[in-house]
Amino acid sequence: MSMQQYIDEAESVLLHTYNRYPVVFESGEGVYLKDTDGKNYLDFCSGIGVFALGYGNQEYNDAIKAQVDKLLHTSNYYYNVPAIEAAKAVLKVSGMDRIFFTNSGAEAVEGAIKAARKYAYLKDNTTDHEIIAMEHSFHGRTMGALSVTGTPKYREAFRPMIGNVKFAKFNDIESIKAQLTEKTCAVMLETVQGEGGIHPATKEFLQAVRDLCNERDILLILDEIQCGMGRTGSMFAWQQYGVKPDIMTSAKALGCGIPVGAFLMTQKVADHSLVAGDHGTTYGGNPLAGAAVCKVMELFEKKDVLNNVVSVSSYLEEQLDALKADHRDIIDRRGRGLMQGLEFDHPVGDILKRALEEGLVLINAGTNVIRFLPPLVITREHVDEMMMILKKCI
Ligand SMILES: *Cc1c(COP(=O)(O)O)cnc(C)c1O
Repeated sequence: MSMQQYIDEAESVLLHTYNRYPVVFESGEGVYLKDTDGKNYLDFCSGIGVFALGYGNQEYNDAIKAQVDKLLHTSNYYYNVPAIEAAKAVLKVSGMDRIFFTNSGAEAVEGAIKAARKYAYLKDNTTDHEIIAMEHSFHGRTMGALSVTGTPKYREAFRPMIGNVKFAKFNDIESIKAQLTEKTCAVMLETVQGEGGIHPATKEFLQAVRDLCNERDILLILDEIQCGMGRTGSMFAWQQYGVKPDIMTSAKALGCGIPVGAFLMTQKVADHSLVAGDHGTTYGGNPLAGAAVCKVMELFEKKDVLNNVVSVSSYLEEQLDALKADHRDIIDRRGRGLMQGLEFDHPVGDILKRALEEGLVLINAGTNVIRFLPPLVITREHVDEMMMILKKCI
């Protein structure tokens, strides 16, 4: 079938919740994707920051296949070895103490919210505790995650949301203080806002939030679903800030293609929040997901992914800054590591469409920002190739 025939078929069966680009991808190799017509694309999106190791990594694929032949699922009424190994590996690199595996990012956010509410409940035996989230944040599409997502248009049709969520301005500690009450149980934010336009938290802000939370025994929840897993040059973005969250979320690149997320917490939170019967999932942390996470952790170390991110991203930043200097309609370049945004003074949709035609996969973050989320294993040559195509398209 031609690509257009596949697309017509898709639009006759799938619920139209996405305005998709007119491409059907069929296979991938390294940092390139191939569509059903055989055309190649350089991928600077990596499935929205999921395929950190690139496509067709043989060791990763072999580990998944071996687990498929062994055991896929047990339910959480029993223990399984891959989940134990995966938990140890993620706790080691994060410095957190306890982990709960989920199937997606949104579910990790749901779990984080429940843990924070339970922690507050056990302290004062009251309910109706409040969470302070950020304007322009994105935490997922389930009802709880949507309730802390700071884009009103995503929430409007689905109200009522879960209650007692207040929104403060990102990178503005006074705005958080203004929302604070004796009922506040958590402050929740993305260390680097992704969908909201690639806005890194400032060090000063995050440290001030941490201090505020310490003073009042409020939990700091950091959403590292997009900015974590090496994306910014450290395993988790908060590790560059001199702060540590009480609860954090992960997903996207955690399984590099196998759907898996997690929420993690310190021992203090674990000792005073969710207990048996409070939370659960049928699939979460099954042997397949566990095997994927274990192999991802192993390959991150073996391929020295963090160092590659640090060295290639400084080159990418230079190139993007040079591009900005040459184009008056580019008003900002911001980001951390291989999570970069280029803001224009106009919508970027047409640029992204042209890029795709020229064989380059890029996405936006809001209407005016081009978002760069390449696989973490790219080289400078891939940056050069991307820049050459991008220059043609703007
Ligand atoms: C993608 C994302 C989510 C939601 O993850 P899903 O797996 O799509 O549910 C939550 N938070 C952030 C910061 C994200 O980027």
